[in-house]
Amino acid sequence: MNKVEHTNADNNKKSLNFIEAIVEKDLAEGKNDGRVQTRFPPEPNGYLHIGHAKAICIDFGIAERYNGVCNLRFDDTNPIKEDVEYVESIKENIKWLGFEWGEIYHASDYFQQLWDFAVQLIKEDKAYIDEQSAEEIAKQKGTTSKPGTNSPHRDRPIEESLELFEKMNSGDLPEGAMVLRAKIDMAASNMHMRDPIIYRIIHTPHHQTGTTWKAYPMYDFAHGQCDYFEGVTHSICTLEFDVHRPLYDWFIDQLADSEYRPHQYEFNRLNLTYTMISKRRLLELVQNNLVSGWDDPRMPTLVGLKRRGYTPESIRNFVDRIGYTKYDGMIDLALLEHSIREDLNTKTARVSGIIDPIKLIITNYPDGKTEMMQTINNPEDESMGTREIAFTKELYIEREDFMEDAPKKYFRLTPGREVRLKSAYIINCAGCKKDDNGNVVEVYAEYDAQTKSGMPESGRKVKGTIHWVSVPHSVNAEVRLYDRLFTVEDPANAKDQNFKDLLNPDSLKIIKNCKLEDYLKNAQPGDSFQFQRNGYYNVDIDSTPDNLVFNRTVPLRDSWTKNK
Ligand code: ATP
Ligand code: MG
Repeated sequence: MNKVEHTNADNNKKSLNFIEAIVEKDLAEGKNDGRVQTRFPPEPNGYLHIGHAKAICIDFGIAERYNGVCNLRFDDTNPIKEDVEYVESIKENIKWLGFEWGEIYHASDYFQQLWDFAVQLIKEDKAYIDEQSAEEIAKQKGTTSKPGTNSPHRDRPIEESLELFEKMNSGDLPEGAMVLRAKIDMAASNMHMRDPIIYRIIHTPHHQTGTTWKAYPMYDFAHGQCDYFEGVTHSICTLEFDVHRPLYDWFIDQLADSEYRPHQYEFNRLNLTYTMISKRRLLELVQNNLVSGWDDPRMPTLVGLKRRGYTPESIRNFVDRIGYTKYDGMIDLALLEHSIREDLNTKTARVSGIIDPIKLIITNYPDGKTEMMQTINNPEDESMGTREIAFTKELYIEREDFMEDAPKKYFRLTPGREVRLKSAYIINCAGCKKDDNGNVVEVYAEYDAQTKSGMPESGRKVKGTIHWVSVPHSVNAEVRLYDRLFTVEDPANAKDQNFKDLLNPDSLKIIKNCKLEDYLKNAQPGDSFQFQRNGYYNVDIDSTPDNLVFNRTVPLRDSWTKNK
C-alpha cells in the first residue's frame, strides 16, 4: 500500500486494460446481444474528487469505446447524508470532464421494485425481520475464523415478517427498532453472506421521495438490483467491493428470470500521495474551515482542481497514464502535476509576471521613451501568434534575479556582469541602492543599443536571460501560491488522525502587489498563462478588474522531488 508508483502504464499505453479485455471477450462471445451498458453511481453526499474521475473515465470510456451507453445513477439510499446541492455539481463535473450520460436514474426510482423484491424474498423464506439491536446482531456475526450464530428471529413465521416489514415502513416504529435480513448462511466463509441487513428504518425525509418511505434498502440490496433493472452489462467499481460480489450475485440469482445478468468488476481505487481522497474526510476539512470550501484550489475535488487551473484534458491524461489494475497502490502527486504542465505547455501564452518585484533603472536609456518589443506568445504553438511588450527606462524584475555579491556561477544580475532582458536588450549591471537597513531598493544597469533581440548584431553570448515588466505598463495583482495540503505521504492512514497536525502550514501563501505586464489586465477568471521562468497561473474567480487575483496552478519545475 505504501509503495509509490511514479509512472505506470506509460509504456504499454496501447494495450487494453483488463476491463477492456473483458468487454472485448464478452462481445466476441456474443454476450448480452452485443450490448455494452455501464453506469456511474455516485452517492450524492459530497463533491466528486480526482478518484471519481478515475471511475468516470472507465465507466463512460468503456461505453464510448464500444458504442454502448453509460447512465448516471445517483445512489441515494441514505437520505441522512444526501443533498441536491451535490447532485447538481456531480452533473456539472461529468460534463466538464467531457462525458455524456445516457439517462439519469436514482436508486430511489426503484424503491417500489426493491420493496416488492424484498417481499418476494420474505415469501420465499429468504428474508426475515430481526428485532435485535445492531450491537446484538454484530455480536452474532462471528469472525473470519469462527462461524456466526443464528438470530433467535431467524425462523419466525413468514406471515409475521411480512407484517413487521409493513410496520417498518409505517412510521410508527423508531429507527433501529428492527431490520430486514436476508436468510443466507451464518457460517458462510464470506462475512457479507452471513444474513446481511437489507432494510433499515430512517425517518429523515428523502430528497427525491420525500416522506413516502420509512424503510430504506441498504447499498448492497440496491446496487446490483438497480444494475439489473436498468440492463447494465458491466458494473465497474473499486476493489473494496470485491468481497461484496458473492452477495451481489446471490441477489441477482434470486431476481433474474432470463439469461441476462449484470456482472461486477473491480479495479484499484486511486490513492495519491500527500492527498486525502474521501468525501467524508474532505467534508470534515470544509466543515472545520481548514479550507475555504469544496472548491478551495488545494482540494482534490474536481471543482477545486478546476479552480486551481487543471484542465479536463490533463485529468483524463493522468488517468490514462496510471491505468487500471487489480492491486491497490499509491500514485505520486508529481504525476498529476506533470500532466497539467504538459497540457498547459502547449496551450498557454508566455507572459511576464513579477512575484517579488524590485526596480531596475536602465540609466543610459532615454527618459520618456517607449519601445514596443515583439515576443512570441507560445514557442510550442506558432498559431498563437506574437504580441508587443512595452520597454521603458524603469522596469520591475524579480528580487531574486539580482545579487550584490554573487558566486561565479550566478548567471543573473550582479555588478559588472551582463544578462539579456528577455525579448529586449543585453544590459550590464552597475550596482544598486540600499535603504538604511541594507535592503536593496533599486538596481542600476546600462543597456547596449546594438543588442536588441532579433537584430543581426545580437549574436553576443550571455549566459542568463531574465524577465521584466515596464513600470508604467504594469498592473498590480494578488498571487496565491499553493502547495500540497498535507505534510505526510499517506494522510488517510496516518497514525495521528487529527487533521490540524497533518496539514501543511505553507499550503497557501498570498502575495500582494505582484507586477504583471498590462496584457493581463483584461484576463478573465479561468484564463491560464505561463508566467515565464516561474510557473502556470490562472485567474481566480475572486478576481476583478480592480483587483486581479491569480492562482499558481503548478510551478514550472517540481521542487519537491529535488528536495527529497
Ligand atoms: P468516498 O469514499 O470518497 O465517499 P465513495 O466510494 O463512497 O467515495 P461514491 O459516490 O459511492 O463514492 O462512488 C462513486 C463511484 O466512484 C464508485 O464506483 C466508486 O467505486 C468510485 N470511486 C470512489 N472513490 C474512488 C477512488 N479513489 N478511485 C477510483 N474510484 C473511486
Ligand atoms: Mg460510497
